Amino acid sequence: MNSPDADSARVIIKKRRALPFFSGHPWVFAGAVHRVEGEPAAGAEVTVHAHDGKFIARGLINPQSNIRVRLYSWDESQRLDNEFWSRRIQTAITHRHSLFGDAPEKRCCRLIFSEADGLSGVVVDRYNDHLLLQWTSRALAEREPFFVEQLHQQLQPAGIWRRTEKGMAEAEGLTLTDGLVTGAEPPRPLFVEEHGLQYGVDVVAGQKTGFYFDQRDNRMAAARYLRGRILDLFCYSGGFGLTALRHGAATQVLGVDSSQPALDFAQRNAELNSLADRMRFEQWAAYAKLESLEKAGEQFDGVILDPPKMARTRGGLERALRGYFRLNQLAVRVLKPGGILVTCSCSGLVSRGDFEQVLARVASETGRTIQILESRGQAADHPVSVQCLENAYLKCLICRVDSRR
Ligand code: SAH
Repeated sequence: MNSPDADSARVIIKKRRALPFFSGHPWVFAGAVHRVEGEPAAGAEVTVHAHDGKFIARGLINPQSNIRVRLYSWDESQRLDNEFWSRRIQTAITHRHSLFGDAPEKRCCRLIFSEADGLSGVVVDRYNDHLLLQWTSRALAEREPFFVEQLHQQLQPAGIWRRTEKGMAEAEGLTLTDGLVTGAEPPRPLFVEEHGLQYGVDVVAGQKTGFYFDQRDNRMAAARYLRGRILDLFCYSGGFGLTALRHGAATQVLGVDSSQPALDFAQRNAELNSLADRMRFEQWAAYAKLESLEKAGEQFDGVILDPPKMARTRGGLERALRGYFRLNQLAVRVLKPGGILVTCSCSGLVSRGDFEQVLARVASETGRTIQILESRGQAADHPVSVQCLENAYLKCLICRVDSRR
């Protein structure tokens, strides 16, 4: 009983199901598990083995989750102890620091991005002196006190706030609630800087984690092409429009969102950056707004489409593709010949190929030429592990839409 694994339960994978885990995929779904030897408590460390008993990896088990085991180490001698987690956290933070150097974005970015940083189940965003912590794994969340101590040691934040994504209670049995974990409450709003623009952010009540850092580089890339009169649909706090006015040749922006609190932020951000005289915001459902603009014969030089996630389950994929089709079709109809369409999809289940096919159908249905100028993804502080490509969720296509062929 002196083996270091004497206390670890073993999870045996079904025959012919072990290949993805040998290759480094971190999610062992319940359906791949043949049997569990021992009685591991929820959140306990386990070793995972192929059907013939061969060691594959070490992970944390959650009997309540469909992702039964999340894998973290493929080295048999590497226990998932505090030193291990500490190193993973430090590596993720060091990566962001080297990515941004001394730019202000260093202090306003995603510091830890779950599987991409070998930390499946936790996301940490930095808003200057405040951190936002999000758990998507109950097993990892049980180690919160240690993670918090490490984040304090490595970054000395003024405070750490916790938010939990909708659905996590059911998916993971995660019972943590939103609220202050340590230190001071985040100011409401707090301010972040991106591309020389200031944004007010409410990390407590704002959507998702308060600000969409993942679109940072796409806002700037889009600005390079946008000129004239721009329609920024699903504008949230105004990022695409503000960047196009400050860094591009846009002259006027109409921002549309269905959420009034989001538009209030967008309006204040326009004022904060002295761009309010060239921006107007309206509360509308995007589809209805596009229909009414088309009816009125309005034409724009550029349209931005950045809708929320449309496909949450595989079963919802077809419906989502129809939604993207309808939205892009309507957008193209209010674009001048030679206009720029910046169209995004943050549904991980919709592949880049699927999304391009949607645009191909829009082109043939509307009789317009659509050229992809840039095919972009998520910003580099949201890296993608090649072993967990499910996390490559963001597509941002910058297109030129010409007149009828
Ligand atoms: N472009 C933004 C992020 C968009 S997030 C940025 O760069 O920061 C998606 C936005 O879509 C949210 O603000 C949400 O309020 C809005 N939204 C959701 N459904 C909508 C609908 N049917 N019509 C218009 N806006 C909608």
